[in-house]
Amino acid sequence: MTYREAYEQGKRLLVERGIEEAGTDARLLLEYVCHTDYQALYTQGERELDELQADIYVNYLKKRAERIPLQYLTHTQSFMGLDFYVNEHTLIPRPDTEILVEEVMRCGQDGMAILDLCTGSGCILLSLLHYSNGCIGVGTDVSKEALAVAEGNARSLGFEESMKRGELLFLQGDLYDALEKKTPAFDVIVSNPPYIRSEVIPTLMPEVKEHEPRLALDGGGDGLMFYRRIIDGAPAHVKRESALFFEVGADQGDVVKELMLQAGYRDVRIVKDYAGLDRVVYGVRIAG
Ligand code: GLN
Repeated sequence: MTYREAYEQGKRLLVERGIEEAGTDARLLLEYVCHTDYQALYTQGERELDELQADIYVNYLKKRAERIPLQYLTHTQSFMGLDFYVNEHTLIPRPDTEILVEEVMRCGQDGMAILDLCTGSGCILLSLLHYSNGCIGVGTDVSKEALAVAEGNARSLGFEESMKRGELLFLQGDLYDALEKKTPAFDVIVSNPPYIRSEVIPTLMPEVKEHEPRLALDGGGDGLMFYRRIIDGAPAHVKRESALFFEVGADQGDVVKELMLQAGYRDVRIVKDYAGLDRVVYGVRIAG
């Protein structure tokens, strides 16, 4: 089987199985297996795949046809221009979440202490640290498997020394319960918490509902459970003046804004994503 035949066969199989980006996924799996890039289809189309490569490729195609997300097979997702390792214990970073990171960067400054609740793969916190100077960061997650992924990402992005020095910590526990007495008061809390209403989960695409961690998706009956808990707990862990940044679902902007206003946040803003949907809500709170 040639490289091009492998691509065509893979694409056909994934089209048959109703995979939306069939061609792209077949190409990316082939590139992953053969250690090639997108040019190979044009420059090496006639090259023969060796038997082992062909077997591995076909095996991955089968898994993709079973609706396992591409990123759980190739174990990588680009986010904010950085490569993140992902596995089935972490939500796959979404492009929309980049808006959350960009808003924190726009409003924040060097030297901040940042708390990222529900850190998952660590994509939010690690991007913020990568693109700023002198910040310290704590990421918490209830899943220790997710934290292992976040720590691995921290190491591969060059934060090994920061972790040793205690300037970057990943702590396991339920939201603020993970924090230790010695953790500092924060300037910024950021979170992309689980926010999908429980009853909506069965209607999601199979890749999401069957393979992404339910823990990372389910926001309770009204989808707002984590927003309430994060807002309630924030005052005990922040400096006198602090900011809170959330990613929200498309229909949650106004209600999360209202929750923040009730809790004393000022200048609460809703930011839309590139599809024109509510995506980020943030505000500032001054205690006392
Ligand atoms: N913070 C992670 C992300 O944005 C995980 C979010 C989650 O688990 N809900 O990808």
